[in-house]
Amino acid sequence: MDNRTQRLLEMDRQRVFHASTHLKQYAHGEITGRIITQAKGIRIQDSLGNELIDGFAGLYCVNIGYGREEMAEAIYAQAKKLAYYHTYVGHTNEALVELSDRIIAMAPKGMSKVYYGMSGSDANETQLKLVWYYNNLLGRPEKKKVISRDRGYHGSSIASGSMTGLPLFHAHFDLPLEQIKHTIAPYYYRRQESEMSELEFSQFCAEKLEAMILKEGPDTVAAMIAEPVLGTGGIVPPPEGYWAAIKRVLDKYDVLLIADEVVCGFGRIGSPFGSIYYDMRPDLITVAKGLTSAYQPLSGVIVGEKIWQALENGTDAWGPFGHGYTYSGHPIGAAAANCNLDIIERENLIQRAADNGQYLQQKMQQIFAHHPIVGDSRGVGMLHALEFSADKQHRTAFDANLKVGPQIAAACMEAGLIARAMPHGDILGFAPPLVATTEDIDLMVDIAHRAINKVMDSLVTSKQWQVK
Ligand SMILES: *Cc1c(COP(=O)(O)O)cnc(C)c1O
Repeated sequence: MDNRTQRLLEMDRQRVFHASTHLKQYAHGEITGRIITQAKGIRIQDSLGNELIDGFAGLYCVNIGYGREEMAEAIYAQAKKLAYYHTYVGHTNEALVELSDRIIAMAPKGMSKVYYGMSGSDANETQLKLVWYYNNLLGRPEKKKVISRDRGYHGSSIASGSMTGLPLFHAHFDLPLEQIKHTIAPYYYRRQESEMSELEFSQFCAEKLEAMILKEGPDTVAAMIAEPVLGTGGIVPPPEGYWAAIKRVLDKYDVLLIADEVVCGFGRIGSPFGSIYYDMRPDLITVAKGLTSAYQPLSGVIVGEKIWQALENGTDAWGPFGHGYTYSGHPIGAAAANCNLDIIERENLIQRAADNGQYLQQKMQQIFAHHPIVGDSRGVGMLHALEFSADKQHRTAFDANLKVGPQIAAACMEAGLIARAMPHGDILGFAPPLVATTEDIDLMVDIAHRAINKVMDSLVTSKQWQVK
């Protein structure tokens, strides 16, 4: 390691508080840091000159790929002309007007306005406030609970972290808030009842949701929040018929649907939005990551017509809507988003994600369907997960202490590929930039294949596992 890298990493250990990190192991150098210095296309480089293929597009966000000059120029031009002005009380900027109109044009039918923030977490915080305010306006102050799902990921602030359905985000933070409840994940591979078909399992999930609404009392349940495809919880596309069955239950009890499209929005699964792909008909939509391909921090809450009407009428009685961030509608964020959408349109990236996504799914199936330790190979569009299992036939997980998922991710990394060890279970996630070609996909699958075999061989050699 060169001196400069060593010095910077030492200073980093002393001064930087990292997200989602074992603080002590990192501070004491048991986990090695990595300084990312530059990136182009689907590849990133570190300060030691290592080049890695980014099979996860950062955190499934750099959809247009890295190092796009055009993005840098759009950001520069906006910064020179107008780096900042607030959007309170009717102030706006040109980039924001254009962006908002484009988002509504791309969104599912029935959407009206976009409220802006900086992150998916703060957008979901806004969602909870909107839903509460809405029901207060309608004179239903009891109707406040929000149902999320186990394994859902909605962020890590107070409200959004509560909605997240992963224990690591709750334990010792005094979360979740009592108004947030979690129903079962539509996780067909992990179903308990072997003989259920996908359709039956979807029905089963809808019945669980209905039972929860009835138990809590329909007059107390305001909304359900859900990702069209579970992301961080394991990259789990819904089983057949899931959204139709869920939506029937929500409509029956007048429960709003918030689609968290932070990952799916703007092309990731080969459709402008997951809600369109699955015909979810949400009342509210959360967007972030894909909105700017992460070139600037920007998020949005897309508000449906029905809710907007109530809010608009409400200001007569209650005055201005008391919610705002200093950076709501930030012009540089908006300029980056417009340029990102220009690129997506010009390069036809949504269709490409559909076509290359299909290629990715087929290729994974072809290589891994019969692999001894791959229990499940699932995905949609440019999202894929390989779930490892000790016993393919019985869908038995590996002993968590073996850390099979993290070992495989590390072996991929050593061979030059970033694939993400998902935080819950032995699951390797893929979400390449949407600009990845079929050759790039072949390369990623090939590296992953060799890494998986390598870890499998070492499990066999060390007698920790044998072919069933
Ligand atoms: C990443 C993510 C969030 C949170 O976004 P941040 O910008 O990290 O706050 C919310 N919802 C989903 C589905 C996400 O993947």
